[in-house]
Amino acid sequence: MLSLIDRLEKEKILTAAEFVTLLENRDEARDYLFARARAVRDSVFGQDIFIRGLLEFTNYCKNDCLYCGIRRGNRAVSRYRLTPEEILERCALGFELGFRTFVLQGGEDPFFTAPKVASIVREIKSAFPGVALTLSLGERSRETYELWRKAGADRYLLRHETRNEEHYSALHPPEMSLASRLSCLFALKEIGYQVGCGFMVGSPSQTLANLAEDLLFVKELSPHMVGIGPFIPHRDTPFRDCPAGDVELTLFLLGLIRLMEPLALLPATTALGSLDPLGREKGVMAGANVLMPILTPPGAREKYLLYDNKICVGDAAETCRFCVQRRMEGIGRVINVSRGDYPGFAPQSP
Ligand code: SAH
Repeated sequence: MLSLIDRLEKEKILTAAEFVTLLENRDEARDYLFARARAVRDSVFGQDIFIRGLLEFTNYCKNDCLYCGIRRGNRAVSRYRLTPEEILERCALGFELGFRTFVLQGGEDPFFTAPKVASIVREIKSAFPGVALTLSLGERSRETYELWRKAGADRYLLRHETRNEEHYSALHPPEMSLASRLSCLFALKEIGYQVGCGFMVGSPSQTLANLAEDLLFVKELSPHMVGIGPFIPHRDTPFRDCPAGDVELTLFLLGLIRLMEPLALLPATTALGSLDPLGREKGVMAGANVLMPILTPPGAREKYLLYDNKICVGDAAETCRFCVQRRMEGIGRVINVSRGDYPGFAPQSP
């Protein structure tokens, strides 16, 4: 096992069969993998952990993803949208708290047309010069992605969710397709965003072979960010009775991705922290280097529930900001409050 990890570190890729072997034998390989992943990360980023202020600005969604708590079919959700003024206010608070990256995330809400989002992007970028702006608004046309990039958006997060066709169909309604998701990701990269793909670990019917396909896809896309977290069931979705993903398996995948993509920005996700009280610390110990504390205002926070038992829902943004700092200092890490671009990626070059 350990020689496979050495080879992964050196060659940055293995075959699907080798990945499956490693995943099957993760108990034996974990300590060594995490030590190597930390060494690789520290050689690039030192002790630094980057933070992003996550602003969940709408929970309206036209999609009906079977796993997601804010899916269109969930009538129990009380829906909200922040106004542009509210978004700007939260960014002002975030700026004071030291955030230099804001992530605007939401459901796929047609109310936020391409020009509306572009104007919000312009306002944020002109009110807070020097900040990086990440969008996570799902699948849009290439023209829309281009417009937002020209308006000043720097990064885009769009998890591919799974690289396997059959598995993708098991997680999504028939009107959604893996092909369309993948073409969005490649378009985003061509347009010049720093791009993040990613997937849930332990989503219903996922196999270790599927995870190997996800790893090979990460290599193919060569993204700047990779968001992975455990699947957690939501009570008002068709997957309510499915078991949550495994924390150890999630950590193991973080470690593998760190060896494959030494420069990647890899968050220890809120979902990981929701399933295990020390999940984010463990994520960092397995190779992650980004945290995304929630900046969403009270009144909205408790309505952006993609899964059950989400942490930080009742907390103030200030609390979350300093909570993650304390947690990181507790494991010998330092919060870096710069934009935290992908190494070598020139800031603000649309
Ligand atoms: N609408 C945006 C944002 C989606 S929410 C988009 O399509 O990109 C961000 C991520 O949360 C999703 O990509 C999915 O991987 C994750 N997510 C959704 N439901 C989840 C659940 N039940 N458990 C864990 N993660 C979930």
